[in-house]
Amino acid sequence: MLELREITKRFGDVLANDRVSVVVEPGTIHAIVGENGAGKSTAMRIAYGFYTADGGEIVVDGEVRKIATPHDAIALGIGMVHQHFMLVDTMTVAENIVLGAEPGSAATLDLQKAAREIGALSDEFKLSVDPEAMVENLSVGQQQRVELLKALYRHARLLILDEPTAVLTPQEVEEFFIILRRMREQGKTVVIITHKLSEVLAISDEVTVMRDGRVVGRVKTSETNAAELARMMVGRDVLLRVEKPDARAGRTVLSVKRLTVVVRSGGERGLRDVSFDVRAGEIVGIAGVEGNGQTELVEALAGLVHASQTSGAIEFEGRDITRTDARTRHELGIAHIPEDRHRRGLLLDFDLSENSILGVHYREPAVSRSPMLDTAAIRVRALELIKDFDVRPANPDLPARALSGGNQQKLIIGREFGLPPKLLLVSQPTRGVDIGAIEFIHRKLVGLRDEGCAILLVSAELEEVTALSDRLLVIHHGRIVAEVDPKQTTNEEIGLLMTGGSKANVE
Ligand code: ADP
Ligand code: MG
Repeated sequence: MLELREITKRFGDVLANDRVSVVVEPGTIHAIVGENGAGKSTAMRIAYGFYTADGGEIVVDGEVRKIATPHDAIALGIGMVHQHFMLVDTMTVAENIVLGAEPGSAATLDLQKAAREIGALSDEFKLSVDPEAMVENLSVGQQQRVELLKALYRHARLLILDEPTAVLTPQEVEEFFIILRRMREQGKTVVIITHKLSEVLAISDEVTVMRDGRVVGRVKTSETNAAELARMMVGRDVLLRVEKPDARAGRTVLSVKRLTVVVRSGGERGLRDVSFDVRAGEIVGIAGVEGNGQTELVEALAGLVHASQTSGAIEFEGRDITRTDARTRHELGIAHIPEDRHRRGLLLDFDLSENSILGVHYREPAVSRSPMLDTAAIRVRALELIKDFDVRPANPDLPARALSGGNQQKLIIGREFGLPPKLLLVSQPTRGVDIGAIEFIHRKLVGLRDEGCAILLVSAELEEVTALSDRLLVIHHGRIVAEVDPKQTTNEEIGLLMTGGSKANVE
């Protein structure tokens, strides 16, 4: 259906695609995998006419075609859903779909007729999207289905999806895969870009693996496995399992007592009456579908929620810290690796050196010779951090923005580990991070635990939270609904608890 032949693309000095060849058979789900920066999006944007290749050719249905703009691609039946949705919040689903499809002629269109067609398409593919709904009222998962509808409405036979699951909860991913399989049954062809191996194995028929701008492998999914794919992606063996000795938990470091966090002025509760302890040398995980109070919990513990919005008590090393501010908590040894590293973790336009002291500048005599910062000393320390945490490129003068998500995350982790913390609050430590870096981050977390740090881990990745945690608390609707031993409990049991079921129901 689609073939890229020896596609080459440069951005300045970066060779983003180096003679990339991909063959996508009709009626299949084809996965393109590779670490961040491997060149996946570039290759597929070229197929969609979003970028123009410097060399090579594109073949559609056996014929060499010139695809200079997305218009050309659409005319050939190729649709693409980007990582960031391109919908207008204040318009309905139908308006969004039609306006995108018919630029310049919107005023003359029969919206009602279009809405009927869109409704029919939604039914055909069981997308459950209401054409009359306002986009702003839709969940992220629904918005993604609108993007799919948009491509289907333009008669796409080939759908290119760029990291479609990055924004979805585990449940939404399941539903999304059902939709993709249905599309395949109806004769559509799907190209899915991802870096999650479990997804590749679950959904694809064939896989093209990219590394450093090149295709390094092409395999049938049924003839490969996670270890082989990881080796191709990273270029070396990757430890996919977390190996850790049993925890030797010591004294209680954190004690949370009946903590409640009210989120909105209406009095709706984000976190309800939550009590638990975390001891030195153990990792306590919080498993749950996102949006069930995890953010409120971590932010309340880090001191980022105003005391007037909380009730209950937080004790750290036996001391009541319920009313202390974030900075004091940090000074006491509570480090926080936030879920949103762009909003809370980094200043993207500041360089790595500057980012390496964010929030810690006040406590480092070597760094802060009041009232001026000692930039030379900061740079030396940043270089050490960059080396210890394998931040690439290893240049402290680069802005944080220039780094991939995984390298940004390693920088934040290095900074927070440097406290050094007695308690680490860590949310989504590997979101958007490459598998090579995931392995590294997991090892660092277990290492910190074994040095006696108490760790509270929140992750939407069930596999991650079960693999890393010594004890696991399941959160649902703001309450801790169960404590389980991750070694004794299956992911199905935990998944059920996460959605409000009980463990007994599983049998
Ligand atoms: P992937 O999708 O596999 O993460 P990309 O195709 O986005 O990788 O990027 C491949 C390389 O090309 C990276 O080094 C990236 O920084 C660079 N790159 C991608 N798009 C652009 C662009 N518009 N301008 C400059 N460099 C880019
Ligand atoms: Mg990409």
